Amino acid sequence: MPIDATQPYDDGNIFARILRNEIPSSRVYEDEWAVAFHDIAPVAPQHILVIPRGAYVSWDDFTARGSDAEIAGFVRAVGHVAREAGLVAPGYRLLVNIGGDAGQEVPHLHVHIFGGRPLGPMLA
Ligand code: IMP
Repeated sequence: MPIDATQPYDDGNIFARILRNEIPSSRVYEDEWAVAFHDIAPVAPQHILVIPRGAYVSWDDFTARGSDAEIAGFVRAVGHVAREAGLVAPGYRLLVNIGGDAGQEVPHLHVHIFGGRPLGPMLA
């Protein structure tokens, strides 16, 4: 069920629990600003999620309330993860779902990294 991205942060959401190491994840990277792990239901050979350490419901929440340092650190981490995964030369796609119409399901900002095969045209 897609979330309402205007709702307050839910401290019990699954990515908050992954950040707190309460449930396992297949981590590929972490630093001061971000944690990256494999999507549990990949739709491409490489499907990685990158999440900020801070409690932000969505991209909208993050860009409205996040500090410049958090935003810069997070964006750099996304680029780093894609480079480390070897995706720059073949190419890759970033996707962020925000709220109900986009189908965002987990109320903690996450950037999808897709790669490892030709991804086809963007779907609106
Ligand atoms: P959204 O639709 O943009 O919110 O994407 C949520 C993503 O989280 C989906 O691609 C799910 O497969 C993924 N996901 C849900 N639970 C877990 C988990 O426990 N570990 C890793 N990925 C998850």
